[in-house]
Amino acid sequence: MTAAQRAGLREALVAGYRLLHQGRPAVEAVEATIRVLEASGLFNAGVGARLQLDGARRMDAALMDGHGLRAGAVAAIQQVRHPITAARLVMDETAHVLLVGEPATRFARHFRLERQRSPTRAQWKASRAAAEIRQARGSFQRTLRLYDAMRSGRAGKLGTVGAVALDREGSVAAGASTGGIALMLPGRVGDTPLIGSGIYADDETGAVSMTGWGESIMRMAVAKEICNRLAAGVTPSTAARLVLEKLIRRTDGAAGALVLSPNGRFAIRHTTPRMAAGYWGGRGEPVIADRFA
Ligand code: ASP
Repeated sequence: MTAAQRAGLREALVAGYRLLHQGRPAVEAVEATIRVLEASGLFNAGVGARLQLDGARRMDAALMDGHGLRAGAVAAIQQVRHPITAARLVMDETAHVLLVGEPATRFARHFRLERQRSPTRAQWKASRAAAEIRQARGSFQRTLRLYDAMRSGRAGKLGTVGAVALDREGSVAAGASTGGIALMLPGRVGDTPLIGSGIYADDETGAVSMTGWGESIMRMAVAKEICNRLAAGVTPSTAARLVLEKLIRRTDGAAGALVLSPNGRFAIRHTTPRMAAGYWGGRGEPVIADRFA
């Protein structure tokens, strides 16, 4: 983790906690935390989101309020600085849970969400697979072949952003925002916007936010699976460990989890070598590290 990323995480924790301290709901704190990370450009979300193999930046985000099981999400949204706020608007302003693609982008425009430009030529050139992509551009057939050739499964650094929070009323919330994984086919959607896979929140069990290889996380509906274990009385740490072990055993997956129960116990666990994360309960300094148990 770079010093700038550490500072970004600290700023995000402080922004979220400030709202909780003022008595605001957990879901607001989660959104505020993620907005800081999306705006930083230091993580794979919002301004820093990855490009898909056709050079487009399509982002996924989701937010869930454990009070009343309310949820909103967007997938493959473009040109928006804060996909998490688009997810919040789906939750608050519509009777739906998930909006995708161009209509999701138009929905964000309707609410005048801050725009983000499409990738510039310089960003495009600097992107990891730029040379190969340029060759493949224009032909979906060639893009597919390129994808097959380059696919090392889930290569690349993971940098999705996520947050969980517990408010004074005892409500929990979870959220996540991502630019996806390295080497994505155009149109690929990961676990992040799928309620029960990338995130879940229920005041009766707890809140979970995931990062990692989406294709394995979604096949196991990991966030809900962890919540089910919490419901059975297992601690956040054990629930996360058991489910992450199962993820490796059954899907050869790799992931990290933020898990919080309504009694305030929480765990940060990962099977990836590192996971930059932090926590803060308002006393002393926020704790930030890139390795947890
Ligand atoms: N889970 C995200 C996805 O598969 C990627 C990540 O967490 O870095 O889209």
